[in-house]
Amino acid sequence: MIHKTLWIVYIGSDDSCLVAMSDIYTHNLGYPRIGEQRELKKATEAYWHGKLSREELEATGQQLRSQNWAKQKAAGVDLIPCNDFSFYDQMLDFSCLIGNVPPRFGWQGGEVDLDVLFSMARGSRGEGQPCASGCSHQPAFACEMTKWFDTNYHYIVPEFRAETKFQLVGDKVFREYQEAVSLGYRVKPVLPGPVTYLSLGKVQDEQNPDFDRFVLLESLLELYEKILQRLAALGVEWVQIDEPIFSLDLSPVQRDALLTAWQRLSQSAPGLNILVTSYFGALQENLSLFLALPVQALHLDVVRGEADLDETLARFPAHKTLSLGVVDGRNIWKNDFSASLTLLQKAQAKLGAARLWVAPSCSLQHAPISLALEPKLDAELKSWMAFADQKLEEVVALSGLLRGTTPPLVLQDNQRAILSRRKSTRIHKPQVKDRVAAVQPEDSQRQSSFAQRRELQQAKLKLPEFPTTTIGSFPQTAEVRSMRAKWKKGEISTEAYEVYLQQEIQHCVAFQDEIGMDMPVHGEFERNDMVEYFGEQLEGFVFTQKGWVQSYGSRYVKPPIIYGDVSRPAAMTVRWSQYAQSLTKRPMKGMLTGPVTILQWSFVRDDQPRSETTRQIALAIRDEVLDLETAGIAAIQVDEPAIREGLPLRQRDWSAYLDWAVESFRLCASGVRDETQIHTHMCYSEFNDIIEAIAAMDADVITIETSRSNMELLEAFVGFKYPNEIGPGVYDIHSPRVPSVEEMVRLMRKAESVIPRSQLWVNPDCGLKTRGWEEVKSSLIHMVQAARQLRVAQ
Ligand code: GLN
Ligand code: ZN
Repeated sequence: MIHKTLWIVYIGSDDSCLVAMSDIYTHNLGYPRIGEQRELKKATEAYWHGKLSREELEATGQQLRSQNWAKQKAAGVDLIPCNDFSFYDQMLDFSCLIGNVPPRFGWQGGEVDLDVLFSMARGSRGEGQPCASGCSHQPAFACEMTKWFDTNYHYIVPEFRAETKFQLVGDKVFREYQEAVSLGYRVKPVLPGPVTYLSLGKVQDEQNPDFDRFVLLESLLELYEKILQRLAALGVEWVQIDEPIFSLDLSPVQRDALLTAWQRLSQSAPGLNILVTSYFGALQENLSLFLALPVQALHLDVVRGEADLDETLARFPAHKTLSLGVVDGRNIWKNDFSASLTLLQKAQAKLGAARLWVAPSCSLQHAPISLALEPKLDAELKSWMAFADQKLEEVVALSGLLRGTTPPLVLQDNQRAILSRRKSTRIHKPQVKDRVAAVQPEDSQRQSSFAQRRELQQAKLKLPEFPTTTIGSFPQTAEVRSMRAKWKKGEISTEAYEVYLQQEIQHCVAFQDEIGMDMPVHGEFERNDMVEYFGEQLEGFVFTQKGWVQSYGSRYVKPPIIYGDVSRPAAMTVRWSQYAQSLTKRPMKGMLTGPVTILQWSFVRDDQPRSETTRQIALAIRDEVLDLETAGIAAIQVDEPAIREGLPLRQRDWSAYLDWAVESFRLCASGVRDETQIHTHMCYSEFNDIIEAIAAMDADVITIETSRSNMELLEAFVGFKYPNEIGPGVYDIHSPRVPSVEEMVRLMRKAESVIPRSQLWVNPDCGLKTRGWEEVKSSLIHMVQAARQLRVAQ
């Protein structure tokens, strides 16, 4: 189908481009693909378990795509994305489109089958696992998965090696374009940009570990040229190419690559209009490079990058179109139309209406789908929110207000909601704000130095050398989950549920006593999730029914929403820890989630700095820590697995973040007496660049994940001469394999060779909630035996 659009050709001196004088005012960068009822998860998992055929899976994908296009069109969005759909991940789709499949998956060329794609994402177990034709039945470990910028979405990391050859073997992007067009939609295909793709991948090449992946740029660009030419031949009007790498610190190599890539790609398919996007942060020193890209349109995230707007407008090249991302794609709050219109009007005054598009700041895949799915959500809170569907309505309304085609009543309604949120006493609690304002530096300071505290803790806890402990959770069996579900549905009484939890705790504590675990835990059976459990008991949080967002593949999360000032109406965990302590003479470890992790894994307020919200949470957790201490709990663990992932995208912003993140941890942990032992836990061990901040948290004991790196990641602690106690994980809890005593002894010996034995604890890498009791029992028995062997050997 050929679109009826009027094109005018301009020949510029430095960049010659085609400019669309078309009727596009609004567009969208990407739409959530998971389905209102999580259809995508259900279908992919059923397919993996052999309960759904390939045809049925494909049909679900097709249905989701057409529903999503229909919704976006109905919302009035002029230009809708396609190829934003994925059965797993868009970066992985791109790797498969260009035949970048690591050799261990046995792919023989030709189109990369969906089963090969799934094995890249999930690993293949070899024999016995259903495998696509063309995939050899060799076991292969999955490709790495990592966080997409500072979102909670994880992409599959592309792998590069000296022999990597790109070939255009797939046709997903072409197929989905044609599918949309045949259904009558005006769509733009979306692809990751070449420099973003190369930058976010890693070299996985045993023969050439130092291989420079940018050597592959040339051949990658050849591929992009082919793709763009084919899109042009299909009649594509606009293509969207995402280069969010622009919001990071760029090396000279990356800058050169961007320049080379875009000079070349802009020439490759005459007649095709290219929109290059950047999002997630201000471009700052990268802005000039971005503005110089010789393409037809550029998208800026002015929610996070408002600081770039003035310079952009002052220097925006004539004839280019500017897309302004004014509606926050990363959050759930209603847009403040008056603030957005100020930005848009400024841009319109400079560029004119025809060269200005209105959009969400980034793909909406990071937002829940629709408020229409939340009948139980409090009406007033709801009136302050916008999920993906509402965000698209906002984009369209803003464009209409800007151009005078939307009635001013819409603006008034919006401003009424914004004002009611600003003034609400449900949000603003003077006592919480006053308490945060009154925090003194000494509130974040333990009474004595670690050396002094340690003596008192040793006298009190009387632990042996190499004390053994776990990270907190024990198996969340199907029974535990089903009892909780029944209780939530009202099928069993609170009393019956609590009796059940007590039995589980008894069983768990008895087991730890029996095997000789030095510092037992209660097992966390009462918790669904380490953030939700606390959010449900704190003021200022609200939960949705269907507010899912994709975390990776078929895993979705339903983050709590922090809407107001946070406080703790009553103790949250004390009764369970106290009950568990009553069952044993050994020191029970209390278990809490830290303020930064609660913040990171929630949708947060946009009306105050993150640091302020975190301090409020820290004070609530501080009260819980003190209540646990009063209840006789001598060791309290405050988990902060998300400290590292909260790091800002730009290095220059790290220290400000680490200052308040560390201070918040200290604020919640510093109220206790010297003899109370504070633990913290982090699920990783890349600490090299933040080790000073980790040490500044001043936890008496830190437990980290190290077994998979063979203790190598302890290096940071060694180099820094980390002064406090450390439990480097001795076994990988991601696998059901039971580790032997010898291997754990070996790992600890390695740790002991670099860290004094008096500083070391013995524990698994992380919580045990995803494991079964049988393997947990055997593994922990071995772990305790390993500690005993370590104690006798000098
Ligand atoms: N205490 C939690 C558990 O054991 C910690 C989980 C985590 O670090 N992600 O499950
Ligand atoms: Zn962990």
